[in-house]
Amino acid sequence: MADAPLQLFNSLNRQVEPFVPIHDGEARVYTCGPTVYNYAHIGNMRAYVFADVLGRALSWKGYDLKHVINITDVGHLTDDADSGEDKLERAAAGTDKSIWDIARHYTDAFKADMRALNIREPAHWSVATDYIEPMIAFAKGIAEKHCYEIDSGLYFDVSTVEDYGRLARAVTEEGEGRIETVEGKRNAADFAIWRKTPPGETRQMEWDSPWGKGAPGWHLECSVMGEKLLGFPFDIHTGGIDHREIHHPNEIAQNQAFCGCGGLSDATNSGARFWMHNNFLVERSGKMSKSSGEFLRLQLLVEKGYHPLAYRMMCLQAHYRSELEFSWEGLEAALTRLKRMVMAVERLSDATSDPVAEHPKFATILERFDAAIADDLNTPVALTALEDALALKKVDAGIKRAVVEHMDEVLGLDLFDLSREQLRIRPASAQLDEAEIEDALARRKAARAEKDFATSDAIRDELAAKGVEVMDGDPLGWEWKRG
Ligand code: AMP
Ligand code: ZN
Repeated sequence: MADAPLQLFNSLNRQVEPFVPIHDGEARVYTCGPTVYNYAHIGNMRAYVFADVLGRALSWKGYDLKHVINITDVGHLTDDADSGEDKLERAAAGTDKSIWDIARHYTDAFKADMRALNIREPAHWSVATDYIEPMIAFAKGIAEKHCYEIDSGLYFDVSTVEDYGRLARAVTEEGEGRIETVEGKRNAADFAIWRKTPPGETRQMEWDSPWGKGAPGWHLECSVMGEKLLGFPFDIHTGGIDHREIHHPNEIAQNQAFCGCGGLSDATNSGARFWMHNNFLVERSGKMSKSSGEFLRLQLLVEKGYHPLAYRMMCLQAHYRSELEFSWEGLEAALTRLKRMVMAVERLSDATSDPVAEHPKFATILERFDAAIADDLNTPVALTALEDALALKKVDAGIKRAVVEHMDEVLGLDLFDLSREQLRIRPASAQLDEAEIEDALARRKAARAEKDFATSDAIRDELAAKGVEVMDGDPLGWEWKRG
C-alpha cells in the first residue's frame, strides 16, 4: 500500500509541491555526484543517502525510476565560483599518479561507500570526461547569445537570462561579494563555461575547443549530462544545500539559455521541475573538512567498530532538510536502534512473507508510514511506524514480515539480511579478538558454576582492563561489549 500522493519540497519555489511526473509512470532524477579528487566524507554520503531514499520512495510509489549520478573528474575548482585550480589537477600535482589514476581510485572508493550504505546503483553513472564533445556542442549553441570570451575563457553572462539566482535568492550585493572577481567579467556572478589553459602551461586534462585548448567549467557538465541522459525538462535534480547557491543557479541559467526558455515562474524552464537539496551534516571540531588531516570517512567509522548501516540509520533519523550534527554518541544510539530492529526481525526469520493477508492494525500503521514518506520523505516519522509494526503482539508473523519488508524497501536498512552479531562494535584497534573474549567468558561461566567467585571476578577485571565490559543480564542479550 503506497497510495498517499507524494509531496516534495521544491527549493526553486521554496514550498512543498505535489510530485506529478513529466513522463507518465516515470521518474527521472539527476544527482550531482562526487568530485573524485579525494575520499568522500560522511557529510557527502548524506547527500547520496538522501537521493537513495528519494529514488526508493519513487520506485515504491510505482514510478519507473531513471536515476543518473555523475562523477566529476574534471572542472571543479577549489572554489565553487571559478577561482583556484582544478581540484583534480591539484590532487595529481606532486604525486607520481596521473589524474586518471586518482579519479579511478576515488571513484572506486566512493562506490564502495555507496554499497556499504546500501545505496542503490543508479541506472547510469555518467563520467564528466566522457561528455567533452557534447559539452563543447552545448557551449557553442549558447555562446553567441549568452557568453563572451576573455583571456581566461568563455564566460556566461548571467544578465542574459530571466530570474538568475532565483534558487539561491542571494544575488544581492552581499551575495555577489562572496564571488571572487576575474579580470574582465561583466557581472560578478558570471561564470566560466570553458577555461582556457593559460599560455605556457599544460594541463593533464585539456581538450581543443573553438575557444582554445582548455577544460570545461564545472556547471556545464551537469547541464549536459542531465540533458543528454534524461532530456529537458526532467523531474528532479538533487544535491547538497551548498549547491543551491552557485552550482545549481548556474546550471539553471545554462539550461534556460540552451532551451531558449523564459523565466523561472515556470519551473520546467530550469531544466527540471523540482530542485531538491539535503541539508548538511555538521561536526563541531571541523573533521568533516577534507583539508583537515583526518576527516570523517565512512571507513573511519568502520575502523572504530561501527557497522556502516548505523550511519544510514543516523541519517534517516533526521529529516533531510534539517541540519544533522554528527557525534559518536549519536552514532552509537543509531546503532542500538538498528540492533533492536534487527532483533525484532530475527524473530520473523522462520515466517513466510504473506503480503496478501491483511490485518487492520497493520493497515493503520502502513497508512502512517505511507503518509510520512509522502510528506516530503519524513523518514523520522516513518521509522517510528516501522517500530510500531515490529512491536505489534499476537499478530501473524507472515503478515508482519511482509509489512516490514515493504517498509524496508524505502528505508533500505537491510533488516532481513543483517544479524545482531554483525552489529557488534568491532574497533580495528581492539586488544582482544572475539575468540579470546568468548574463551575468557566460558572460563568465567565455569568458575561461577563452581561458585568460584574470586576467579570469576578476576576474569571480569582482566577483561575490563583490556576494554571489554561483561554484561550480565543485558536486556539486548549481549554478553559483553567494548568499553
Ligand atoms: P562534492 O564531492 O564536494 O561535489 O560533494 C558531493 C555532495 O555532497 C554534494 O551534493 C554536496 O552538496 C554534498 N555535501 C558536501 N558537504 C556536505 C555535508 N557536510 N553534509 C551533507 N552534504 C554535503
Ligand atoms: Zn552538478
